[in-house]
Amino acid sequence: MNFNVTFHLSYKFRLLLLFTLCLTVVGWATSNYFVGAIQEIPKAKDLVASLSKGVILGKKGTVTDEAFVEKARLDNCPSVSPHLKGQTKLVFKPDLTLEEVQAKNPKVHRGRYHPEECRALQRVAILIPHRHREKHLLYLLEHLHPFLQRQQLDYGIYVIHQAGSKKFNRAKLLNVGYIEALKDEIWDCFIFHDVDLVPENDLNLYRCEDQPRHLVVGRNSTGYRLRYSGYFGGVTALSREQFFKVNGFSNNYWGWGGEDDDLRLRVELHRMKITRPLPEVGKYTMIFHKRDQGNEVNIGRMNLLHQVSRVWRTDGLSSCGYKLLSVNYNPLYVNITVDFWSDP
Ligand code: BGC
Repeated sequence: MNFNVTFHLSYKFRLLLLFTLCLTVVGWATSNYFVGAIQEIPKAKDLVASLSKGVILGKKGTVTDEAFVEKARLDNCPSVSPHLKGQTKLVFKPDLTLEEVQAKNPKVHRGRYHPEECRALQRVAILIPHRHREKHLLYLLEHLHPFLQRQQLDYGIYVIHQAGSKKFNRAKLLNVGYIEALKDEIWDCFIFHDVDLVPENDLNLYRCEDQPRHLVVGRNSTGYRLRYSGYFGGVTALSREQFFKVNGFSNNYWGWGGEDDDLRLRVELHRMKITRPLPEVGKYTMIFHKRDQGNEVNIGRMNLLHQVSRVWRTDGLSSCGYKLLSVNYNPLYVNITVDFWSDP
């Protein structure tokens, strides 16, 4: 009898234990699910924010909801566009006008274009620092728009114009371009482009790779030879992440020279390796000009170059101050005008 009662109790007790165990397991599983769901909320918020960015931009007339949906429906563009022509002879007509260039690019709106037949592999922002070079800008726009369209890119051209009479600061203008362009679109790739260099061969692809890329191997003015092995000037391509990682350009190079060498040192400090196209592909025509006033050679550039490893964290995108005077959405490019109020 005693034995029976003990057995009975322990049987009930075991049932209770099993039930409690089941409840604990179910409770643990559901709580994990909810914690997971709560942790997903910020990610979902990010997604919603970027989607609504498209909608917000649509209000300004750049990326509309329909265009966004339409693009998502298309197949990816091929890795090599069927429209490429290779090396072409460039012609610079003395009496060219902006209206002519506009008429030849009816599908470019507010500086932007995307292919209609396929979904571009990258969204590319072209950043052009500029001051008093209207004719050069016109020639560059004339050649660059069809060149980029043949490459089937989703692109936008930004001209960053330095107002005032302070010394020219190419690098700081490019930092501004990066910061301001990202307000329009989450660009994948940035091309930092001199205004006086026109690409001759559309096999020179304006897109980013897993390492920073230097696109100017040679120019007509130097017999199409690379200036020196570490040369990283003229036209370079860095992804949004690569440029962010090195904290962009230094803001301290006033006048001509050095800022591109500084960027190369930043890239090397981060153990990235610069790549280039083949010499016959990376060819540019430099439109002749005399040294501009306000862009005299920076004789202090060697001293600055010695400090890169010490200052790159605090001098760059993270410390780029400027007064934004205007942002104008012209048909062929976005014009950003800034003033660097403090003296160099
Ligand atoms: C300057 C660079 C320039 C290069 C080629 C160097 O001495 O520091 O900024 O791009 O020469 O002209």
